[in-house]
Amino acid sequence: MATVQVQAQVQRTVLLAAPRSFCAGVERAIEVVERTLAGADRPVYVRKQIVHNRHVVADLETRGAVFVEELDEVPDGATVVFSAHGVAPQVRADASARGLRVVDATCPLVTKVHAEARRFAGRGDTVVLVGHAGHEEVDGTLGEAPDRMVLVESAADVAALRVDDPGRVSYLTQTTLAVDEVGEVVDALRDRFPALRGPGSDDICYATTNRQEAVAAVARDADLVLVVGSANSSNSVRLVELARRLGTPAHLIDDASELDPAWLAGARVIGLSAGASAPPRLVEEVIAALREHGPLTVRERRVAAEHQQFALPSTVRP
Ligand code: SF4
Repeated sequence: MATVQVQAQVQRTVLLAAPRSFCAGVERAIEVVERTLAGADRPVYVRKQIVHNRHVVADLETRGAVFVEELDEVPDGATVVFSAHGVAPQVRADASARGLRVVDATCPLVTKVHAEARRFAGRGDTVVLVGHAGHEEVDGTLGEAPDRMVLVESAADVAALRVDDPGRVSYLTQTTLAVDEVGEVVDALRDRFPALRGPGSDDICYATTNRQEAVAAVARDADLVLVVGSANSSNSVRLVELARRLGTPAHLIDDASELDPAWLAGARVIGLSAGASAPPRLVEEVIAALREHGPLTVRERRVAAEHQQFALPSTVRP
């Protein structure tokens, strides 16, 4: 008679980081597209991904949004939505010259950084933007004062900086960076330029900060950390990096289908979070997928409450 081997299923705990998933800026940007679609009888174009999440983009595509990389793909006179990451003034000018109807979904916290860039450059400073080259938010912010702004990505870049007047240097940051890493860059800037001036309040946004604190709180007690988010989502990637810096293996997954069962070997406690652009339902689906590998206890660990809301742009307000 054949012997059937029954493997004991491993009891696991999921520590659910909170806050996680959508922030107020992302919710607003998605609602802007939804309302624009609802009020349109012609295609609605969206310049760049509205937020950096492929599920969000695919969902809006099925509802009629047409995503393009640049304005030259938008027909004259059409409606175009600018993404949550913001655009350079030149893009606005081009849209205006083309007679496009613009609906702006730029997050108000990105708009604040643009205003600071104009103010700092306007007083004659060299403005150092701490951020990642090629990110849409960085391109947009640098576009506010291309002749007066320079990008640095790390503390190592600071030594090579050339400025007109070391007494007139200020800095700004991308909104979705790692809080601890930015601190190192700003320290390096201040060492080199003691008169360095910065923004009145931190440019790293509340949602980025809260999600980093929450993932740190679960990573410290977890054998494995999973972060739901797309690879081009800056704040999601920073969550994975932070967990790894704390010594916990961590993986970025776009959805439950990317969960590799091999990661679960020896993992009794799994920290789970999601970047600010990742829909909450994807987290639920990851929990459901984890349940297929054995009994699961889910505990939420909340480090902050979020009540932030942003008003919609007047063009789509009810
Ligand atoms: S992550 Fe921060 S800056 Fe980006 S959309 Fe959300 S609230 Fe705005």
